[in-house]
Amino acid sequence: MEARALDRGLAGEATALLRKLGVQSQTFERGSVTARSPITGQIIARVESANSAAVHSAIARAANAFRIWRSVPAPRRGEFVRLLGEELRAAKTELAHLVTIEAGKITTEGLGEVQEMIDICDFAVGLSRQLHGLTIATERRGHRMMETWRPLGVVGVITSFNFPVAVWAWNAALALVCGNTLIWKPSEKTPLVALATQALFERAAARFGDAPERLSTVLVGGRDVGETLVEDARVQLISATGSTAMGRAIAPRLAGRFARSILELGGNNAAVVCASASLDLAVRAIAFAAMGTAGQRCTTLRRLIVHEDVYSELLSRLRRAYASVAVGDPRDGAALVGPLIDQDAYAAMQGALDEARAAGGVILGGERVLTETFPNAFYVRPALVEMPGQTDVVRRETFAPILYVMKFRSLDEAIELNNDVAHGLASSIFTARLDEAERFMAADGSDCGIVNVNIGPSGAEIGGAFGGEKDTGGGREAGSDCWKFYMRRATNTINYSGELPLAQGVKFDL
Ligand code: NAD
Repeated sequence: MEARALDRGLAGEATALLRKLGVQSQTFERGSVTARSPITGQIIARVESANSAAVHSAIARAANAFRIWRSVPAPRRGEFVRLLGEELRAAKTELAHLVTIEAGKITTEGLGEVQEMIDICDFAVGLSRQLHGLTIATERRGHRMMETWRPLGVVGVITSFNFPVAVWAWNAALALVCGNTLIWKPSEKTPLVALATQALFERAAARFGDAPERLSTVLVGGRDVGETLVEDARVQLISATGSTAMGRAIAPRLAGRFARSILELGGNNAAVVCASASLDLAVRAIAFAAMGTAGQRCTTLRRLIVHEDVYSELLSRLRRAYASVAVGDPRDGAALVGPLIDQDAYAAMQGALDEARAAGGVILGGERVLTETFPNAFYVRPALVEMPGQTDVVRRETFAPILYVMKFRSLDEAIELNNDVAHGLASSIFTARLDEAERFMAADGSDCGIVNVNIGPSGAEIGGAFGGEKDTGGGREAGSDCWKFYMRRATNTINYSGELPLAQGVKFDL
């Protein structure tokens, strides 16, 4: 009875938030895509899936909008993104709460997700006046050579459930200032936050005044919608975030039509704790990185590689942290760990724990909790698993709060373990020694896209380039010079000499 009452409450809460954020009621009252809240496991709304005709028409409209948008001066495009950032600021609490309801993130993480959207808008506004090309010395007298950066076209953004709106914003803010138009295929597990974000986008468009229609379109649906985007030659770039299996399916198709791709796929991230490390600092960093977001971040810490001299002490501190962490309703300020997204995630976690046990792992936690209060939801205690070595299960990404712990003696051995997995997203070292920190970041150190010292592997800032190597897909998003992925580079050579000297001294006199 209590759970049913709460379900009705959650659906009502979601509906009220959607209306407040400007989403039309008819878009979330019926349809084949069911939005569930992982807080209770119950359906909170239904949304229509885009059929193939709707996808094709959206691409055609985005391509038309591009013809207008590409000629709008970049700083003016930046003004659009500034307005989007303002709308996000004004709606931060409501959108964050909807993220909590639909993705199960605890309140501060929901707020953090929307803050990331705001931050990338700020970054992109500045960038809109800095899309610089080089002027390059030429070998020919009376010539000038330079680079100009031009918009690409329609950018398709495919996103995962676990960062249901921030990942779109990383792509959208940059793609828009670079002069592109957008089509967004959100995760079928989180359609509501996408509809809410689109409503805020439309508010910004109305304030901007003369933005072309369909600058950005949301297409709710399953993988078939993503596949149609991937196949369509009018979509110049696909930025896809999700599992390695998804990336493996789409990468050859995109390569086959020479489309650009930014692939942000799975991670199996490690931290190395050296004998000199501050254990106080390491324990706090490990706790957040391994248990935060219920282990459902691409950068979640999944493997801990600990020097044998500090192993017992670190493990006893971690056992205390794992035993005391509060698991519960993510809306409740006391909970630090919310629910898993669904039953499949729970089954995958239990399967991995069984495999770890069979391989000699010693497991603390991992069990399902709160079944009486939330019989249709999947809350688990995070699992801390001491492993005799880096077995098959440790070398796979299981998208759940499982931290496998192993020992090392030499830094070489630790780096080898860090790199001996298919993924290459994030990594960390905890040490007070400069030589160890530098070695970990050196060419023969960690092979990941993110290599941190004395902070955990998760929780990146938008100012840096985000992404990883190997089975993580090789893409980079957000800060640094990632904007270049959303533009094409033209090399221009201008001859003002009145003569025609050829490069490399070639003579061709008629
Ligand atoms: P998922 O692969 O199941 O789905 C991600 C998105 O891809 C969804 O929108 C889905 O509909 C779409 N999709 C799936 N198959 C497709 C196909 N064949 N063609 C086109 N689209 C397809 O992933 P998920 O369960 O939502 O997210 C969890 C995974 O995402 C984890 O592996 C996690 O590590 C990864 N992730 C990576 C990053 C990163 O930046 N590297 C960030 C967040 C999540």
